Amino acid sequence: MAELCRYAAIPDKNPREIVLLRGSGCKWRRCRFCDYHLDFSRDEAANFALNRAVLAQVTGRYGRLEAINSGSFVDLDAGTMAEIGRVCTAKGVHTLHFECHWRDRAAIPALRARFVAQGVETRIKIGVETFDALFRECYLDKGIDEADPAKIAAPFDECCLLAGLPGQTAESMARDIETGLRHFRRVCVNLMTGNTAPVQPDPAVRAVFVREVAPRWMCDPRVDILLENTDFGVGGTGNAE
Ligand code: SF4
Repeated sequence: MAELCRYAAIPDKNPREIVLLRGSGCKWRRCRFCDYHLDFSRDEAANFALNRAVLAQVTGRYGRLEAINSGSFVDLDAGTMAEIGRVCTAKGVHTLHFECHWRDRAAIPALRARFVAQGVETRIKIGVETFDALFRECYLDKGIDEADPAKIAAPFDECCLLAGLPGQTAESMARDIETGLRHFRRVCVNLMTGNTAPVQPDPAVRAVFVREVAPRWMCDPRVDILLENTDFGVGGTGNAE
């Protein structure tokens, strides 16, 4: 893959540093809108070397760190997980955010216990994309075999939603955000942008989201809205900060 930006600082809304790490790869790989899972390597030593260099950029300036990788935190090697813990202690990070697929949720309690033992609170984010279970599973193939938003939310703290897809409406996208806010601490809405996956954004639905939905939550501190999937500063190509 082209060189990706893997470190950024997010000064607005829930200020934090964010690192895009590389793991062994998403095990699901079936989501029909996603080509993010291409960022992986089976070479554990190479992943660790890359991740250590990325983590070396963390300053701890906000006390919050988000560590993402394509897939779940379980796809990161043991050395990288240890390095994340070391950096948290060294830089005074008190809150650590990870991503996790629904299928890996059983690993969350042990992760929380591990970091709590060193005084770090974890916030785990799940990509739900939409709470319309039929749309999500039959069209997007997300791999969440549960329809009840409360049950989906139970092991998690935060969720990602996807907007701008064919078939979505202003009402359905707003309903997803409202449902997310009822069940999760925070919601991150990604406006779908074109990629190499089979499901592509609908320009008309994207426009509806920007015009009618996004303004309602643009200033809500519990809602991140990414109009480009590189808005957090990581994932684009070019030189990392
Ligand atoms: S969206 Fe996440 S779970 Fe789905 S294929 Fe992509 S990396 Fe894997």
